[in-house]
Amino acid sequence: MLTLKLPDGSVRQVPEGTRPRDVAASIGKRLAQAAVAAKVNDAVVDLDSELHDGTGELAFQILTDRDKEALAVLRHSCAHIMARAVLRLFPGTQLAFGPALENAFYYDIDSPTPIREEDFPRIEEEMRKIIKEAEPFERFERSTVEARELVRDLGQGYKVEHIDDDLKQYPTLSFYRQGEFVDLCRGPHIPNAGKVGAIKLLSIAGAYWKNDSSRKQLQRLYGTAFFNQKDLDAYLHQLEEAKKRDHRVLGKQLKLFTVSQAVGSGLILWMPKGATVRGILETFIKDELLKRGYQPVYTPHIGRLELYRTSGHFPYYRDAQFPPMYFRPAAEALDLAQWRLSAGHLSPEKERALKDFMDQAHFKVPGYEEARTDEERLEAVHRQVVKLLDTMGVELPAYHKATNAAERAKALLDWLEQQEGFLLKPMNCPHHIQIYKAEPRSYRDLPVRLAEFGTVYRFEQTGELSGMTRVRGFTQDDAHLFITPEQTEAEVGANIDLVLFVLSSLGLNDYRVRVGLRDPKSDKYVGKAENWEKAEQTLLALVKSRGMNYSAEEGEAAFYGPKIDFVVRDCIGREWQLGTVQLDYNLPERFGLEYIGNDNTAHRPVMIHRAPFGSMERFMGILIEHFAGAFPLWLAPEQARVIPVSERFAEYGQRIEKELHEHGFRVHGDYRPEKVGYKIREARYMEKIPYALVVGEKEQAAGTVAVTDRVDGDLGAMSIGELMKRLGDEVKERRIRQVSTASAGLADRGAQFAD
Ligand SMILES: [Zn+2]
Ligand SMILES: [Zn+2]
Repeated sequence: MLTLKLPDGSVRQVPEGTRPRDVAASIGKRLAQAAVAAKVNDAVVDLDSELHDGTGELAFQILTDRDKEALAVLRHSCAHIMARAVLRLFPGTQLAFGPALENAFYYDIDSPTPIREEDFPRIEEEMRKIIKEAEPFERFERSTVEARELVRDLGQGYKVEHIDDDLKQYPTLSFYRQGEFVDLCRGPHIPNAGKVGAIKLLSIAGAYWKNDSSRKQLQRLYGTAFFNQKDLDAYLHQLEEAKKRDHRVLGKQLKLFTVSQAVGSGLILWMPKGATVRGILETFIKDELLKRGYQPVYTPHIGRLELYRTSGHFPYYRDAQFPPMYFRPAAEALDLAQWRLSAGHLSPEKERALKDFMDQAHFKVPGYEEARTDEERLEAVHRQVVKLLDTMGVELPAYHKATNAAERAKALLDWLEQQEGFLLKPMNCPHHIQIYKAEPRSYRDLPVRLAEFGTVYRFEQTGELSGMTRVRGFTQDDAHLFITPEQTEAEVGANIDLVLFVLSSLGLNDYRVRVGLRDPKSDKYVGKAENWEKAEQTLLALVKSRGMNYSAEEGEAAFYGPKIDFVVRDCIGREWQLGTVQLDYNLPERFGLEYIGNDNTAHRPVMIHRAPFGSMERFMGILIEHFAGAFPLWLAPEQARVIPVSERFAEYGQRIEKELHEHGFRVHGDYRPEKVGYKIREARYMEKIPYALVVGEKEQAAGTVAVTDRVDGDLGAMSIGELMKRLGDEVKERRIRQVSTASAGLADRGAQFAD
């Protein structure tokens, strides 16, 4: 007998080999009907799979259309249904892989006639036919030899290759049959196609067989599926909203920022309107920091390599950094060689990144590309290094004595560490540390809170760059706090308050908190265990006492200390990671930081790194999407537009414009000979300006303006005084008034296809 423990805590005894389907039926008819799959000890299985005892008691749950895991089973089943439909319409199509994703599914296919978006309707129609027939998904197994014959007979060459490359070690393989369609598959699947409520094909893209760019290019056909039409509609609405809010599109339309290849990929050029918004945000934070005891600092964009060797940022994260600037020309090439030699083996991804750097540096290593093994690659690099040392006249006996790649790497590193050079700063902390060290510190001076909008540079791979959210240069709203261990609670608490204040000022009130803790089994963490213990307890107590929605995640701490991250949900339900507060025991140690305690001896301070926005670029990108480009009045680059009904009232319009300007409002006039309605629509809907101020005969006579509000529409005539009072209050209170968009109300992030 097996013991099943159900989610409500009750326990059931069933015979060995019982199927989840039977368990569901024994619980109730309704559950049996609603059942989609089952979860047994965290594994999702078919309703028809047999239950066997592993360890005695099994945690058992029937999954229905209310469970997220069931949706993944449904979507993967739809990948089969889509493949079946494609095979009917495009005979001879070869199938590769077809998994479920967070919000969708895909199948990689190789069709004799490439599929185009115009084909979507008939593929969907064929899928609906299959769904209507509600045939079961039937699992069967074959020995691996027979399985290979079966996929070969089905004419599925990629599946044959997949078995040969990856699956040979298994004695048997499983298949799923649905009508005439048979597919090699681990499962699980829904019991029958009738469970599918609604489907939609989303897009088509190129994809390489096994994601390897040296192999055949296939087509990746994306779709999504839900248990009912309502959920699909809500999801599609969210996708639409996400597309409309895409900050890359709006950034261009609203002239907020641009990227020029002449400057470089991933390097944001803030245009005047974007810069205006950023400036207001920066002032907002600066004022707040002054109130909270911070001191402003400025530091340069580069620092000596030595500084980053001490901090540990160099050379360890160098594949994510711009190349170091050495004074000695040989050092740049040797630096790349050292990188390769020290790595031993590189993942294909890192190998590509390195190749990129080598190409750009014109550092050619004969024989490298043709090499088949790491050993051959390392040998090729070595030969090139020897040549280089010789031509550049670098004396390096230790290198010549070395007998393997690791020793050679070490010899080069020792030499490189003697070389002078600079690095574009990847972090502001080492600079701020030098300011802390510039004077002796006593416990009476602490906390020292140094704040800077510090620009840092990271060399993200080209494929990962996206608008303002993945960039190569960005400005952090950074600060470093140097505190005594006893001040941890108060200072972290104050920082949580600051992050929450900042987020709520921008209407980002829907958030959750992640507390990153040590993995108790790992030894990679620096700092005393007792400090960690105390700090982790402090962070947890803080989020608890504030009644925050939080999750504590073991193993998510930085190696130098525990942290708190804020994950914010925007108004269409997407999640973004924003502010972070991190404790650090490592850098104070590395830089030998001290303060004199009230016992008159030297103590080591703790550091806090924190950035409520994260980076100005990313935050701006998120704000553009959150507000759909319609910034609240206090942030809007142009707050009001003056629109005279005809040229006769241009002078009165200019007077209004000037008066508002003088009172600190951001206003422009539109004096083009266009229709008033057109100008209002353009200001309100295209440029998303909060107020349109129309002036004509009546207004000029009465000394008023006719006000149209972006949110509430026509507000009628107002005196200039009244208008300024209204605008002034709205700015002062940082009021957020948005044209409501029916939120899709979906829990998961839907931007995937808008990206
Ligand atoms: Zn499958
Ligand atoms: Zn830092």
